[in-house]
Amino acid sequence: MFNMKFNSFLIKYGEIGLKGKNRYKFEDALVFNIKKAISPYLSNFNVYKEQERIYIDINSDFDYNLLIEKLKNIFGIYSISPVLKIPYTDDFKKLENSIIDYVKNIYGEKHFTFKVKTRRVNKKFPMNSDEINMELGHSILVNFENTKVDVHNPDIYFYIEIRNHINIYSENIEGAKGLPVGTSDKGVLLLSGGIDSPVAGYMISKRGVKLEAVYFHSPPYTSDRAKDKVIKLSKILSQYTGSIKLHIINFTDIQLNIYEKCPHDELTIIMRRMMMRIAEKIAHSVNALSLITGESIGQVASQTTSAIYTTNACVNIPVFRPLIGFDKEEIIKIAEKIGTFETSILPYEDCCTIFVAKHPVTNPKLEKILQSEKALVSADEMIENAINKEEVVICNYET
Ligand code: ATP
Ligand code: MG
Repeated sequence: MFNMKFNSFLIKYGEIGLKGKNRYKFEDALVFNIKKAISPYLSNFNVYKEQERIYIDINSDFDYNLLIEKLKNIFGIYSISPVLKIPYTDDFKKLENSIIDYVKNIYGEKHFTFKVKTRRVNKKFPMNSDEINMELGHSILVNFENTKVDVHNPDIYFYIEIRNHINIYSENIEGAKGLPVGTSDKGVLLLSGGIDSPVAGYMISKRGVKLEAVYFHSPPYTSDRAKDKVIKLSKILSQYTGSIKLHIINFTDIQLNIYEKCPHDELTIIMRRMMMRIAEKIAHSVNALSLITGESIGQVASQTTSAIYTTNACVNIPVFRPLIGFDKEEIIKIAEKIGTFETSILPYEDCCTIFVAKHPVTNPKLEKILQSEKALVSADEMIENAINKEEVVICNYET
């Protein structure tokens, strides 16, 4: 066997614990998503749940940093701890030897203060938690002369969990939190090439919603580079959300038609309403129950409250706008954290910016917009056509 400081990873999943009878569904989804995220290396690991914990046992040599990087992106994981897992024993001496080996392997001669924290889930063990803490604390002190106990603010906590087996660990690497993707109904993300919508997708996916995405482009007014940028953004997002099915809709005819027939100061609003109608139809066809946009109140003319009211009025499906109260700087911070920012700021044209009026209405009235839209006599047909001609790209993360 290869020599190792630990032989498993312990996955904790905070919020899932709240879900009562549905709990197993969340756990199963999380196990499934972990297996999927590490599928190329799955033969190195054994992933399973046991007693309100998920374990990833290590079977053979693997890339530690790569594994942690993958696990850190999986929603539903609260923390990741590399553990030394030993078989259950009643024999305190055996436990003591294991923890001494553990400390030696991981911390060597380092100087640090520590505290031992024991959870005795399995009450068969002949000592109680306080006794174990005291005795193991003493052993560590005696065996490692550079250590000191600090019960209030230690550098290191040594966690001992006595279950059907015994876990020894001292590190809780922060996970992505949220809920496992796939535990909420699907949603359709309106994904432009901008900064905001990828962040909106990330946030809703964090609540367990499985995403499909829709992108509207207007060739030849928008280029392939602009489309490739959105595909790239979907691929980046997919490391958190899992594989994303991206629906690419040719919006040129619709936009030209609006441009020709409707007042120019209303172009953006009417365009946005068309996008919402198409997205709603796509949502119905893929059993999604929500739309998701990157809007934030007042950020641009098309995102004043009356503009959002007017855009929203053409659909019946719930529209999630997770960024609604965020400032741009706050959104940018998240975009940087999730790795979409650099791609989002590439300066390629967007269909909304090409057919835009110099002075768009900031206070549109729904009755007036409905009146203007009457000029689009074959709107339904154009919508059907655009959907029938969609291009679909399945986006997965590429390293
Ligand atoms: P983003 O940074 O997401 O592009 P934005 O600040 O540029 O947002 P708008 O252009 O007003 O805002 O778009 C508002 C929202 O409408 C976007 O967040 C996105 O959800 C959707 N949207 C805009 N343009 C497109 C497009 N070409 N394809 C798909 N969705 C779009
Ligand atoms: Mg935009």
